[in-house]
Amino acid sequence: MNFATHVDTAARNAPDSLAVGDSRESLTFGELAQSSDRIADALVHRGVAVGDHVAISMANSVAFVCTYLGVLKRGAVAVPLNRRFTDEQTEYVLTDSDAVAVVTSRHDASVPTAIDGETCEYAALLGTEGGDTDVEPRRSEELAELLYTSGTTGAPKGVYHTHGNLDANARGYIDCNRWSRDDVALTVCQCFHVTGLNITTTPFLALEAENHLLTEWDVEAALATIERHDVTYTFLIPTMVVELLEHEHVEAYDLTSLRTVGVGGSPMPERRIAEVESALGCTLVEGYGMTETTPLATMNRPDDAGRKPGSVGRPVANAVTVRIEDHRTHTPVERGERGEVLWRGDTVTPGYNRQQLTESAFVERDGVRWLRSGDVGWMDDDGFLYIVDRLEDMFTTGCGDVYPHEIEDAIYELAAVQQVAIVDSTDDVRGTTVTTIVTCRDGETVSAAEIKRVCERQLESHEVPDRVVFVDEFPRTATGKLDRGALRREFG
Ligand code: ATP
Ligand code: MG
Repeated sequence: MNFATHVDTAARNAPDSLAVGDSRESLTFGELAQSSDRIADALVHRGVAVGDHVAISMANSVAFVCTYLGVLKRGAVAVPLNRRFTDEQTEYVLTDSDAVAVVTSRHDASVPTAIDGETCEYAALLGTEGGDTDVEPRRSEELAELLYTSGTTGAPKGVYHTHGNLDANARGYIDCNRWSRDDVALTVCQCFHVTGLNITTTPFLALEAENHLLTEWDVEAALATIERHDVTYTFLIPTMVVELLEHEHVEAYDLTSLRTVGVGGSPMPERRIAEVESALGCTLVEGYGMTETTPLATMNRPDDAGRKPGSVGRPVANAVTVRIEDHRTHTPVERGERGEVLWRGDTVTPGYNRQQLTESAFVERDGVRWLRSGDVGWMDDDGFLYIVDRLEDMFTTGCGDVYPHEIEDAIYELAAVQQVAIVDSTDDVRGTTVTTIVTCRDGETVSAAEIKRVCERQLESHEVPDRVVFVDEFPRTATGKLDRGALRREFG
């Protein structure tokens, strides 16, 4: 099986159904199957061999999807490049990924200048006289793509996904969300990251259903696309949800088609979930995953029995198995107790592109290989997982452990707070202290005293912030996540 053949199956089943669209063009499954064949042929002509790594430096677009499928059909490994990287970072990833070629598009204004020499232009590839190369058959354990992590805790890491990973991931999302071919997706996250590529884009190809891609995240454009194409599902990261809620004209759009919004990638403030649901008139389902899990790991289901707001849902059956262990003794914790979360299963990566990273992330427990997530969590009696924080973000003051996310959650009780982050800071007298960084909603204010009061009421004394800093905006990583490293450097 080659994951890209889902498109050929769709082209046989429903050649005239819309497959992908962006603001410039759209393709039916028949057209997408043909165009991706051409790309695969053109890559053969240019000497790209089976197993070669081919980088794709393109914005979210029909052209991206077509190129991605062409690379897979060739039997090569797709390496989507983060277009927000600086030239230096692009050069690092190009070298790190061992790419033999880069595909770019002249419609794309922001091709990094670090890319030269071996570039292929999308239109030129598409225009190559078509040969009749067959789709390269692949076994499920063979590599399909190399995706980079967000780089929240250091340099982005290259993670391999096999054709089997992609299939298990797509099946899991389709199943959990109960999607049918009549569903319509909106992709706002970037396809160079697992969120844009493997939560909507590749599952919707396997589903044989319609997917609309936004070049860049933009609230107006997202709302307008939902209205215009009767979108039923979209996935957002929490910072996008916050921006959507802040948008003045949400009511001006007809969003009745939208049934479910998936959210994940970083902690979603529980206290904002109901607010989002009433503003958008849909169900918000939180899930948890990592680039290393393709990313499907846990999900809340859209039905009442399948969800618990505040949790990240249950581990998805047939995709992953979870182990929660004491991070010091490495023995499994009791139900309800906290520990580091480990994963194994069909969506778990076979490894990174660097042996050293693979060796430090995978561990053996009783002869079984597990992936360490670096996240602390606990499971309730019904099997729902709760993510407390990253092991790395947790810190200790003289009086006890501090999990930033727990304090942040308490502060979200204050409606005027738009976003909040906790970092550890150092004080000459007291040692490690707790610093809170806050942005307020437009036209609203909150005082440091109010923030401390709400924490005193809900938390232990060593978790009450020592210092409150107000800012206008938070620093973000290239995938839009809160950049805690930058905050720590500035305020820690
Ligand atoms: P890097 O590994 O390069 O430091 P990263 O871990 O942010 O960056 P991703 O693979 O994009 O890279 O993100 C996975 C991580 O995101 C998880 O390990 C977890 O910390 C966090 N995460 C994902 N979903 C959730 C969620 N629903 N709630 C809390 N955290 C989440
Ligand atoms: Mg990570």
